[in-house]
Amino acid sequence: MTYTPKIAIIGAGPSGLTLARLLHCSGIPSVVFESDPTPESRTTYGGSIDLHEDSGQLALREAGLWDEFQKLARYEGEDRILKDRFNNIAIEQKDLDTGRPEIDRKYLRDMLLNSIPPEYMRWDHRLKEVSGDGTLRFSNGVTAAGFDLVVGADGAWSKVQRLLSTIRPFYTGVSAIELWYHDIDSFDPDMNAMIGHGSHFCFGEETGRCLLTQRQDNGVVRTLACMRVPEEYLADKGVENPDRDGAVAFLLREFGEWAPELKRLLTKSNGPVYSRPFYMLPVGFRWPHKKGFTLIGDSCHLMTPFAGIGVNMAMQDSLELAHAIIANKDGELDAAIHKFEKTMWPRAEKAAKLTWESTLSRFDSDGIKVLQARLEMALASRGELKKREPKGSPPAEKVGELKLED
Ligand SMILES: Cc1cc2nc3c(=O)[nH]c(=O)nc-3n(C[C@H](O)[C@H](O)[C@H](O)COP(=O)(O)OP(=O)(O)OC[C@H]3O[C@@H](n4cnc5c(N)ncnc54)[C@H](O)[C@@H]3O)c2cc1C
Repeated sequence: MTYTPKIAIIGAGPSGLTLARLLHCSGIPSVVFESDPTPESRTTYGGSIDLHEDSGQLALREAGLWDEFQKLARYEGEDRILKDRFNNIAIEQKDLDTGRPEIDRKYLRDMLLNSIPPEYMRWDHRLKEVSGDGTLRFSNGVTAAGFDLVVGADGAWSKVQRLLSTIRPFYTGVSAIELWYHDIDSFDPDMNAMIGHGSHFCFGEETGRCLLTQRQDNGVVRTLACMRVPEEYLADKGVENPDRDGAVAFLLREFGEWAPELKRLLTKSNGPVYSRPFYMLPVGFRWPHKKGFTLIGDSCHLMTPFAGIGVNMAMQDSLELAHAIIANKDGELDAAIHKFEKTMWPRAEKAAKLTWESTLSRFDSDGIKVLQARLEMALASRGELKKREPKGSPPAEKVGELKLED
């Protein structure tokens, strides 16, 4: 006789919602506990993300959301410009089919949320503590118990991870000031043209600085002004919770030797400003398996954004965990979960190693060459280079011709 396991998912990020959707598609309900008070309460979502064919995209295909994704994906977001700090272009990938379209995070979350029954969701449930018998205690005073499986999908500072391990994320030696621009096409057409349709990455090499700018949908742009600095540096400089004027003055000092066109990215933002110290779990993180619990996404492989694979890993975890649960409705759940973990750990280790190397090389003197080699390898692995039909309007004529060599 088959039974339907009772599943609690902590966190409605990409990993938790993808899992809830995939289980729902196979007739397995779940309860998703999320700390956000309401679906609309979030004011910041983070930058646009590229979904990869063999992970994020695969999960959406299996979740029956491929057509919906196609309506929201920005294929022109695959364009990429790499520069040095003097504003010299080293590499430009334009109109190429890299197989990695971008999607705004809010669109991804809304698409996933709308694909599961609203009664699965428990908003305003911040997990405060989980005990070894699976009892969940929330900040709003609610207690829940009796689940066959509690899935920690609660991100970097996961409370479920705390139950399973004594290891905590460490500071990676890199912090950023995050700047946002709205209506950039009308607000600053020159900067709009300079950035291109997708990513615009500038390397400061021996200065220990880099500027990562990414276009979102609807004329929105985000820049991460990254610095290799000690953990307390931003607080010591008074920009831990920066206002724009304070952040601009600070960044002009930090990026003093950079080209004026690039400094414009620091001075002309017109949206919110945040500080972002980057943390990571150790490469090869794992935990002693515990019946009734598991972890997916950042809760078990928190990484910096320098390889751009965190969401993809998270969605692949959800896909593989959903397969394990769906195939074991007969009660052999614990063995299947342990098997899932033993497959996920080495995959996550490989991704974390790549990310760690990418974090270090972003500030090395040959950082551009290292990223260039990685991009070329990714393209080569897809076979013959294919051109993509350009989509969208603004800067096509201003960003030059396709060029993949130094
Ligand atoms: C600046 C930056 C840029 C990035 N860029 C990229 C990129 O380009 N590509 C890419 O693939 N990845 C990128 N990443 C990584 C990516 O954001 C994460 O890997 C991804 O969001 C992980 O998804 P998740 O569902 O595991 O966790 P999260 O997205 O962190 O979601 C966790 C959810 O759990 C909720 N929650 C947290 N604590 C609790 C609690 N105690 N109780 C209940 N709910 C809780 C949160 O509110 C949230 O909704 C970037 C990360 C950063 C910081």
